[in-house]
Amino acid sequence: MSNYDNQNIFAKILRGDIPCEKIYEDEYVLSFKDVNPQAPSHILIIPKGAYTDINDFIENASNEEIIGFNKAIPAVAHQLGISETSGGKGYRLISNAGSEAHQTVAHFHIHLLAGRNLGPMLVSIK
Ligand code: 5GP
Repeated sequence: MSNYDNQNIFAKILRGDIPCEKIYEDEYVLSFKDVNPQAPSHILIIPKGAYTDINDFIENASNEEIIGFNKAIPAVAHQLGISETSGGKGYRLISNAGSEAHQTVAHFHIHLLAGRNLGPMLVSIK
């Protein structure tokens, strides 16, 4: 059972209570610039439905929502010209789920990062 809090910041963005720099929108998703970018292109893609994280989304969303969400990823990447098939140099997707992953907003989202060499996937702590 989901403990979704409809006062989270992305729920407020979806309701239009606070603004965002929109990149893409369709029936299933909203995509907008991250307010604290970690790369020249740092875009968030969120489902319009109320899901706390990827577990909640995949386990409880309809197949149409899951397919719609996934199809938005290349749509955004092509629109921004960051996919290699649209003339860019590629991009990275990240989705944090839970405390050790440092998820800070409890509305499922993926980060799409591009525009510089992103280096190895994780920085080693050893
Ligand atoms: P998380 O740490 O949950 O994976 O990522 C949450 C992201 O949301 C962070 O990268 C943070 O910069 C971004 N963020 C937090 N508040 C806002 C906001 O009000 N507007 C936008 N556009 N991004 C936000």
